[in-house]
Amino acid sequence: MAQLPPSHPFDFDAVRDDDGDTLHEECGVFGVVGIAEAANFVALGLHALQHRGQEAGGIVAHDPAEGFNSVRRFGYVRDNFTKASLMETLPGPLAIGHVRYSTAGSKGNTAIRDVQPFFGEFSMGGAAIAHNGNLTNANALRRELIDRGSIFQSSSDSECIIHLMARSLQRDVPERMKDALRRVEGAYSIVAMTRTKLIGVRDPLGVRPLVLGRIDTDARPAWVLSSETCALDIIGAAFVREIDPGEMVVITEEGGVQSSRPFEQRRARFCIFEHVYFSRPDSILGGRSVYETRRQIGVELAREAPVEADLVCPVPDSGTPAAIGYSQEAGIPYAMGIIRNQYMGRTFIEPTEQIRNMGVRLKLNVNRALIQGKRVILVDDSVVRGTTSRKIKEMILDAGAKEVHFRIASPPTAWPCFYGVDTPEKDKLLAATMSEDEMRDHLGVDSLRFISLDGLYRAVGEAGGRDPEQPQYCDACFSGEYPVAPSDMMERGFELKPAAE
Ligand code: SF4
Repeated sequence: MAQLPPSHPFDFDAVRDDDGDTLHEECGVFGVVGIAEAANFVALGLHALQHRGQEAGGIVAHDPAEGFNSVRRFGYVRDNFTKASLMETLPGPLAIGHVRYSTAGSKGNTAIRDVQPFFGEFSMGGAAIAHNGNLTNANALRRELIDRGSIFQSSSDSECIIHLMARSLQRDVPERMKDALRRVEGAYSIVAMTRTKLIGVRDPLGVRPLVLGRIDTDARPAWVLSSETCALDIIGAAFVREIDPGEMVVITEEGGVQSSRPFEQRRARFCIFEHVYFSRPDSILGGRSVYETRRQIGVELAREAPVEADLVCPVPDSGTPAAIGYSQEAGIPYAMGIIRNQYMGRTFIEPTEQIRNMGVRLKLNVNRALIQGKRVILVDDSVVRGTTSRKIKEMILDAGAKEVHFRIASPPTAWPCFYGVDTPEKDKLLAATMSEDEMRDHLGVDSLRFISLDGLYRAVGEAGGRDPEQPQYCDACFSGEYPVAPSDMMERGFELKPAAE
């Protein structure tokens, strides 16, 4: 029987998305100022944000006596940033960190030099920067900067910001950063630091999340910036507020939080997919519990797409809250028809070909006793390429289900994301090439229905649905209406949806 070559690590975490069948958030950011051993708090925060990026992580810390120190590593936070000997190299009351998921094109090829935070030495002192999102004009900026003499060390967008800052004539780092960010387009939530300042910025549309937290100590409060509120909870920080779209906060131990709005005001367009899938269900987004929003998506889905059945089962874990909502609204019993192996960490083994062919079964197993002879509604968060959905359907039928009905907690994903979410190219997205009925036949299920875009908007709290003139969220991967033109991709031939379509 064929064996994988010894040098080929088997990544269990890639089983569900080994062919790009899952969308991935690409990054999480976290920063702390005003507490001893800030890097330890950052490590814990990054651990809570691990779902936003599993490939690599980095922390930069500053100590008045030791200066800047940084550590960047591949792998999970828990496997690197829990070692006392390593954390001792990151002393000081100010630290920022980043977890990263590599993009489809670079998966497995990321060099350590691409792992954030990045560091730049300026005449007024050093600065480190980490960002979540994607700059849509990074290629054009990079070309221009290289023409003007900049020497890049990584392939990351964030480095463009460092080089633009280096060229600014402003006298301090926050002002240089404002200059730089006025040149960039796209989506970014930035956490940065100087020797004394923790800096947070959200792009003018506020596409990606960033929140402010506070730890009350006996002396002055310590301040925290995080991609999500769930990471505040883990370190005992209180949620203060979201950083507003287009806002920069500069935080010091002595001066607390100073806010400014360096960009032209625009209508916010937060990523609606954060509510559906990316954020953790124990986070709060826009004042709403992510779990409750997902449950409400299930309620809307049951109203829009009812079907007679015996059981509602989630595709774990992300389909769970929507399945609960569907079950409650439809009055059909909820059941854990598919069990996820919770202990499937990133374990490297050398499996036989036979084990590799088990694919999704390594992660998910059907609860045969429940499923046999039943008409089953399966609730999943999205359909990307459809390969996983097909495998799950086969597993359910193999277990003796009488009927399989898919209900999807997001509209058809027919367009790629250019704002920091790893998406296959347009022609690889099932919904870009097939109608809903064609997808149903392709997946071989008895019925397939997606929540409508209006239904999704209602579930996130927009009672009137989507405003077609001025959509309240970014929903480009569903609608094809990009709030920021993906200029780099258009240069490479990407075609926007015709206005009349
Ligand atoms: S395109 Fe989709 S995934 Fe990307 S930011 Fe917009 S809503 Fe989120």
